Amino acid sequence: MSIEKRIHSLVRENILAMRAYGVADPGDLVKLDAMENPFPWPDEIKRQWLEVLAGVAVNRYPDAAARGLKTALRDAMGIPRESALLLGNGSDELIQIIITALARPGAKIMAPAPSFVMYEMTARFLGLEFVGVDLTADFALNVPTMLSAIEKHKPAVIFLAYPNNPTGNLWDVAAIREIIEASPGLVVIDEAYHAFSSRTLLDEIGEYDNVVLMRTVSKMGLAGLRLGLLVGAGQWLGEFDKVRLPYNINSLTQASAQFALGHIDFLNAQTDKIKAARKTLADALAGIDGVTQWPSEANFILFRVAGHGARDTVEALKQKGVLIKAMHGAHPLLDQCLRVTVGTTQENAAFLAALTEVLAA
Ligand SMILES: *Cc1c(COP(=O)(O)O)cnc(C)c1O
Repeated sequence: MSIEKRIHSLVRENILAMRAYGVADPGDLVKLDAMENPFPWPDEIKRQWLEVLAGVAVNRYPDAAARGLKTALRDAMGIPRESALLLGNGSDELIQIIITALARPGAKIMAPAPSFVMYEMTARFLGLEFVGVDLTADFALNVPTMLSAIEKHKPAVIFLAYPNNPTGNLWDVAAIREIIEASPGLVVIDEAYHAFSSRTLLDEIGEYDNVVLMRTVSKMGLAGLRLGLLVGAGQWLGEFDKVRLPYNINSLTQASAQFALGHIDFLNAQTDKIKAARKTLADALAGIDGVTQWPSEANFILFRVAGHGARDTVEALKQKGVLIKAMHGAHPLLDQCLRVTVGTTQENAAFLAALTEVLAA
């Protein structure tokens, strides 16, 4: 039997039909496509960090409960005492853990659309139906359609990214509460961009027994460590913990994240710089003809180019040394839309100069 034949007879059909999540090789491009914090660590912090790493016993398995790191996360993020905590290898892994635990035959996964792609991809990996419910044209939750979709599909879990990716906005809290109250299943509030947002639901999730909240350290400056956290009732997290691979947070990540959170001031200072740069970038975009943008509570800005194709614009920007992401094609509401991550002052200036040239051509 040929290798192709064997593979086609063994790999699940929905996997055969998929494409792997593509990540472009950025080379020397100004990288504004992945919501990374652009700032390196200060030299003195780096020196102290290396000392911490030198003390890590990599011959041993990591602390399976990551006790030290959990305490540091609780302190740094003000996680309510009564909430339990579960860690993932990025919040991507937490999404996978949650959906795996809830993957009863016929279970459905729901999220507003457009939103973060991993909710749908992970549902598909597990052979579950994903139901996307369109946002309104200005990217607000469409409460009547959400409520009727909930009633019709009875989703096992609804993911609500707050702020939403790729649109950057926060949804109305009263609308979120209506959805939670109508939901027969679990609701996951995904606060991946909490560091840049003016609002959090962390202190409100305890009012509901069907809500958990997810965060990540990726967007606040530690994307390379791969660490996400789930906050919620111990009963829910106890079930999810059974699905978690025992040593999912490696020793270097535990030591590094605990160290960084112990020096949270430098990360907060970087966050403040990014928020200030977001305002400067939005003001500059407002002055470019043919650009429509949406207000952002995250470290990226979604915008539309009129009279130019979004994909052509991304290609032309790449020729000029700047990498951003075309969202066009991901959802009809994202027609001719692009998403740019807020970078350093110099990176943002390079992006703006390139965009101005491309749109003037
Ligand atoms: C980036 C992102 C994540 C994934 O974060 P990781 O912790 O890096 O896996 C989850 N949710 C949303 C909405 C995101 O934008």
